[in-house]
Amino acid sequence: MRAVLLGPPGAGKGTQAVRLVEKYNVPQISTGDIFRRNIKEGTELGKKAQEYMNAGQLVPDELVVDLVKDRLMQDDCKNGYLLDGFPRTIYQAEQLDRFLSGQGQKLDAVINFEVGYDTLIERLTGRRVCKACGAGFHVKNMPPKVDGVCDSCGGELEQRKDDTRETAENRISVYEESTAPLIGYYKETGALKNFNAEKDPDELLKEIVAELGE
Ligand code: AMP
Repeated sequence: MRAVLLGPPGAGKGTQAVRLVEKYNVPQISTGDIFRRNIKEGTELGKKAQEYMNAGQLVPDELVVDLVKDRLMQDDCKNGYLLDGFPRTIYQAEQLDRFLSGQGQKLDAVINFEVGYDTLIERLTGRRVCKACGAGFHVKNMPPKVDGVCDSCGGELEQRKDDTRETAENRISVYEESTAPLIGYYKETGALKNFNAEKDPDELLKEIVAELGE
């Protein structure tokens, strides 16, 4: 299954991705995670991406597209993948389409997460992630068993630099301007599936699976 998870920051794409990876046994490809890993490792790419990310801006297309194409050529993507956070611009979507048609493939679904503004802000500013394994929590909605400590690996939880209120607001504006036009783009291709993503994650998973098939 080849699918794109589309939606504003804080819509719960990462939370669903973890569940869908397990269900469909395909890798999650999160461009945000790839950039964060590069920043941590101090690579050239990480250095270039960091300032954009901290400001809540998009990393330029030319730093993103080849990276994703290379990733999709890897062996574990043979039976499909979940793209989380890519494409984020019409240009990226066009490049993805071109890449896919070159391989004689197409997207099976674009899962569009619909969430209201206040919920997004609440989710983003309350989000905490594990420094060690990247597992996600929320101070209110999904608290860890021990405050500040990851349930999965015991690592320390932290707030992402771009989850502060001001940067979160900025990221939502960037989404509206640059990424929301993809909804129209994928509606035309027929791949778009809309979901109300305000609900409980397990409930939402059931709806997505009902649409995509077992
Ligand atoms: P995310 O983890 O998906 O919220 O992404 C975090 C940040 O990484 C974004 O705010 C952007 O700065 C950058 N980023 C991730 N994916 C992309 C992309 N497809 N295009 C441009 N920038 C991206």
